[in-house]
Amino acid sequence: MKRALVTGGSGGIGAAICRRLAADGYFVYVHANRNAAKAEALVAAIRADGGQAEALAFDVTDADASRAALEALVADAPIQVLVNNAGIHDDAVFPGMSAAQWHSVLDVSLNGFFNVTQPLTMAMIRSRWGRIINITSIAGLTGNRGQVNYSAAKGALHAATKSLSLELASRGITVNAVAPGIIQTGMIDGVFDKQAIESMVPMKRAGTPEEVASVVSFLASEQANYLSGQIISVNGGMI
Ligand code: NDP
Repeated sequence: MKRALVTGGSGGIGAAICRRLAADGYFVYVHANRNAAKAEALVAAIRADGGQAEALAFDVTDADASRAALEALVADAPIQVLVNNAGIHDDAVFPGMSAAQWHSVLDVSLNGFFNVTQPLTMAMIRSRWGRIINITSIAGLTGNRGQVNYSAAKGALHAATKSLSLELASRGITVNAVAPGIIQTGMIDGVFDKQAIESMVPMKRAGTPEEVASVVSFLASEQANYLSGQIISVNGGMI
């Protein structure tokens, strides 16, 4: 049974990805940081549905803690599907953006990508099969007012996706990014109201976490063997 790790599995999109990959037949590691209880509850729900899962928690900005947790995880077998989904936003127009806002957002999305992916790569290479899927954002493609930090982090992940896909292509490992638009989770509560969503999204609604998860499921599958280095938008036609 292939093993998958979803960072930020305690959040809205991450939870949907965990449920979907478990239904697809993967053993899923549901990762959390502060909300370990949510990850445990999701594991219980996946098991109740006949799937296999386990929770684990660490802060992706803590390089040593991440490495320690992940090296233990791949001591005997590789993680074959990695979904880098953990992310935060902390918005402010640029003249008012603090250094802490800048650094914290880059630290979770971009340094977190390194802290989690790098310790898992060698075991994946040895097995000659793998999937690395980075959850980015439309903001990394188009930019967004008030999100210079978030756009920078997600745009950098797009570039990292492309470079890493070139390094790993000959080893049977694909590396892709999924760039959601506006998805109905706690992250957008209080950010966009119904009217704003209707004016911004051609499909006139927010997407669901399950609609992101189904693209991740496809990218993780054998059907996506020849697809690497791509940024797949899931945004109701916004761009
Ligand atoms: P949520 O706020 O629901 O979930 C965020 C997740 O990230 C949580 O599981 C949280 O863990 C985890 N996380 C945050 N900081 C850390 C950290 N330092 N270490 C480890 N884990 C951390 O957000 P969404 O589900 O909406 O977003 C998931 C991803 O999708 C993010 O990368 C986001 O940028 C992206 N995205 C979301 C969009 C949306 O409209 N919702 C649109 C475009 C992209 P915990 O709660 O346990 O601390």
